[in-house]
Amino acid sequence: MATYDITTDALVIRAVEQGEHDRLLTLLCPKEGRITVIAKGARSLRNKLMSPCRAFVWGNFELHYKGDMAWVRDASVIKTFPALEKDIELIYLAQYISDVSCELSGQGEPAGELLPLVLNTFHALCSDKYDRALVKAAFELRAAAISGYLPELGECIRCEKQDSLAFYLDVMGGGIVCSECIASSPELPEAEIPVDSFGMRSIILPISPTVLAAMRYVVSAPLKRLLSFGISSEVDKKTFCRAAETYVLNHLERGFASLRLYHELSE
Ligand SMILES: [Zn+2]
Repeated sequence: MATYDITTDALVIRAVEQGEHDRLLTLLCPKEGRITVIAKGARSLRNKLMSPCRAFVWGNFELHYKGDMAWVRDASVIKTFPALEKDIELIYLAQYISDVSCELSGQGEPAGELLPLVLNTFHALCSDKYDRALVKAAFELRAAAISGYLPELGECIRCEKQDSLAFYLDVMGGGIVCSECIASSPELPEAEIPVDSFGMRSIILPISPTVLAAMRYVVSAPLKRLLSFGISSEVDKKTFCRAAETYVLNHLERGFASLRLYHELSE
């Protein structure tokens, strides 16, 4: 069996206890993408792996491969996100962001912009400067956009018109639809979409010009300025957050326990 070692920076997006002493980690790495590794002894207080081999740690990892299996040989912490370990609402939110990243990343495929996006999002969640709900929504939309689900927000996906009295987000159609096309179609815009509504054939959400502008900004802004936007109206903010969440869940075709727990605490 081939054995080899690699050293990589990585974000721990999941840490599951295994047996009495070990942890099974899911790492998101720049080049190797998502990998699963065993951290032997990481549950023991005096073990050198205990501190770096925890969820939401950005660290440097020395990995030993034997065939398809990998073990952590050594690891060190580069950065931790203390608020994501203390605030229960943030713990679930960080877990949800990690779960979505896990779904959107591939084994052996470079993580591309997804990794800096998750790191930026964790950083923003630890800062008082940003609105938590907007940080979450910006992550959801941007993560979907860079992972093959970029919504068409420039023109109506049915008639290609760029101007309309009002636009709607056609979640499963992957873009906006103008009010004229909606008026001549049999579907009705949804007033209330339950959180776990994925798998529906048609979800049409009314979006205001402010919400559309925010969505356009989030899918195209440079990553460093991703959160340099604001939404003043509470109604628009709610619509924006609901649109982003509905969009990513429906394209992933699943829900997440972490998200349900986050909503229970934040509402
Ligand atoms: Zn149209």
